[in-house]
Amino acid sequence: MPDYDKPPELYEGLRLHQNENTAGCSPRVTAALARLRPDQVSVYPPYSRAVDACARHFGVPPSWLALTNGLDEGIMAAAITRLRQADGSGVPEVIVPQPAFEIFEVDAAVAGGRTVRVAPRPDFSFPLAEVLAAVTERTRIVFVTNPNNPTGTSASTTDVKEIARRLPAGAIVFVDEAYADFAEGRTFVPELATAPNVIVGRTFAKAYGLAGLRLGALIGVPETLDAIRPAIGVYSVNIAAVVAVEAALEDQAFIQDYLRQVRESKALVYALCDRLALHYWKSDANFVLVRVGEHAPRIVADAAARGIYLRDRSSEPGCAGCIRITTGIVEHTRKGLAVLEEVLCVAR
Ligand SMILES: *Cc1c(COP(=O)(O)O)cnc(C)c1O
Repeated sequence: MPDYDKPPELYEGLRLHQNENTAGCSPRVTAALARLRPDQVSVYPPYSRAVDACARHFGVPPSWLALTNGLDEGIMAAAITRLRQADGSGVPEVIVPQPAFEIFEVDAAVAGGRTVRVAPRPDFSFPLAEVLAAVTERTRIVFVTNPNNPTGTSASTTDVKEIARRLPAGAIVFVDEAYADFAEGRTFVPELATAPNVIVGRTFAKAYGLAGLRLGALIGVPETLDAIRPAIGVYSVNIAAVVAVEAALEDQAFIQDYLRQVRESKALVYALCDRLALHYWKSDANFVLVRVGEHAPRIVADAAARGIYLRDRSSEPGCAGCIRITTGIVEHTRKGLAVLEEVLCVAR
C-alpha cells in the first residue's frame, strides 16, 4: 500500500512548501470564530446555511454540492464509492496523469483499486491522447488536477469533456480544482449540466486560508454526487468551519488582495529564474515549479536551515532537479527568493 509522505511538521520558519496563505485567513473569519457561543459548540453543527452560501458562490443549486472535511475527504469518498468492486470485472483502475498530488494513489489503494500513471510531457502540457489511451473497461476514476500540483499547468475544458465522453458507464472524471481560484476563475462547474459523469472538487484551504479548519466541497449533478455522499461523514464539517466559510465568502476584498499578491509573487519568481537562467513552468496556481538542478534536496535543506521551507519535488515524474515554491504574500516571496538565491550560490 503506498504511504502518503506527509510533510514534516515544520512551523518555526516561513512555510513556502505547502501552498498555504502564509498571511493567515481573513480577520472576519477569526472574528466570527471568537463569537462562537458554548451552546453552538455543544450541539451537532447545522450546515444548510453554509451549503447554501457555498452553492451560491459556485453558482449551482444546493443539491449539487456536498461539503467535506477538506477536499481530501471528498477525494477519499469518491475513491471508496467508485472503486468498490461490484461486478467481477477485475481490479478497478484510476488514471492519474503525472506528476500529481500523491493522495489520489494512496486513496485508490485504500479503496482496493490500482493506479494507472500517465507519464508527463516535457512541457507538462495536458496529455489528453495518453490519458484516453489508458482508459479501459476497468477505469472508474480519472483524476485531473486543474491547475495541476506541482506543475501549475492546466488542462482545457475540452480535454476534460473529451475524457468524460470516452469513459465506460459508471466511471467519473474527478476534476480537482484546489487551485482554481488562482486561475482567473476558470472552472469546470458551468459544464457540469452537460457532463454528468464529472465531479469537481474545491477547497477553502488554499486561496481562502482555511487549511487548519478543513473545509472542501464536491460539486456535481445529483445523480452522480448522491452516489458519493454516503462515504462522507454525516457531521464531518465542524461548527468552526461552518462559521468560518460564511465569513470568508463575505470578504471578497481579502481574496482579491491575495490573488493580486500571488500574481506579483509569481512575476518575482519568474524574474529571478530568468536572471539566474533557471528553467520554470508558468503557473496558473499559487506556486511555481523551478528546476534548480541536481542539488535540489540540498538546496531545500539549506533553505530550511535558514528558516525558509521549500518543497523538494525532484523525485516526482518529469521533475528531476525541481523544487516547488509557494508564491503568495509578496513580502514572504521576497524573503524566500533572497534565501533561495543565497543557497543556490553556495550549491553552485
Ligand atoms: C492542497 C490540495 C488538496 C487538499 O485540500 P484540503 O481541502 O486541504 O484537503 C487537494 N488537492 C490538491 C491538488 C491539493 O494541492
